[in-house]
Amino acid sequence: AHNYPAHIWHNGGIKPWAEATTHVMAHALHYGSSVFEGIRCYETPKGPVIFRLGDHMKRLFLSAKVYDIGMPYPQDVLEAACKEVLRANGLKTAYLRPVAFRGLGGFGLSADTPTDVAVAAWEWGPYLGAGVLESGIDAMVSSWQRMAPNTIPSGAKAGGNYLSGQLIAREARRLGFGEGIAMASNGLISEGAGENLFLVVEGVLNTPPVSAGILSGITRNTVMALARDAGIPVIERDLPRETLYFADEVFMVGTAAEITPLRSVDGKPVGSGRPGPVTRQIQDAFFGLFRGTTEDKWGWLDPV
Ligand code: PMP
Repeated sequence: AHNYPAHIWHNGGIKPWAEATTHVMAHALHYGSSVFEGIRCYETPKGPVIFRLGDHMKRLFLSAKVYDIGMPYPQDVLEAACKEVLRANGLKTAYLRPVAFRGLGGFGLSADTPTDVAVAAWEWGPYLGAGVLESGIDAMVSSWQRMAPNTIPSGAKAGGNYLSGQLIAREARRLGFGEGIAMASNGLISEGAGENLFLVVEGVLNTPPVSAGILSGITRNTVMALARDAGIPVIERDLPRETLYFADEVFMVGTAAEITPLRSVDGKPVGSGRPGPVTRQIQDAFFGLFRGTTEDKWGWLDPV
């Protein structure tokens, strides 16, 4: 049984959680026509802040643009909705989930239905399990590939993309791994089921390029900026699978997963088999933004 939050923002205002319902014939339920975001709110010495709220909302609107999903509320209203739902539930540390979807109003694929919009917020600990930020996880390369370019666009964060993510994540769990890593359709490293990847090779931070069928993650962008600021070189490049076995350190990043070290891939230890110094340095810089030990030079923290 879940312990659901008391309130949710739905189609224009805050309402009780149980009242945020939709019809079973809503377009999105049948065809995957939703776009969404995952955002975190952190407690800081200066009060709760939403991390890169504007960047997440911008991506939500770009995802909607790809599918011509009309947005009935402007960006500033949805940003305010994020803050309202946090306050309504008395949350200081939370995961926020804005979602916009094709609702009831047509059964054809190209139907222009009305768009429903909701923003939920709840407390969500480390996505890949308790203690994994410290100890790391065991990952595997998935038997499933990511969507090829010009099939389903991986750069739009749409509900339907997460059929791919479910296949990758469920296969990994079934086989006893913490997470799955997908190759792109060209056979090169893409990303995790719901996380971007970084590989430390001889002191350089490597990450697959957007052409590898990834979601251009906001945490990925954050890590690249923090690393460069700390003098760690970062390159986006094509990475063959064996780089996962050659790398000194590998970690996964995402809003939900934050900065999760990989201690093994396909049963082979990553480096020493323990989270390495670059991973630790990036974790310290990232969580330092919220502890107040990393200066927010970028204006990423939005007070609630
Ligand atoms: N890739 C995929 C497929 C994802 O679902 C996510 C999580 N949104 C990410 C990467 C990481 O993106 P972000 O850092 O913006 O949360």
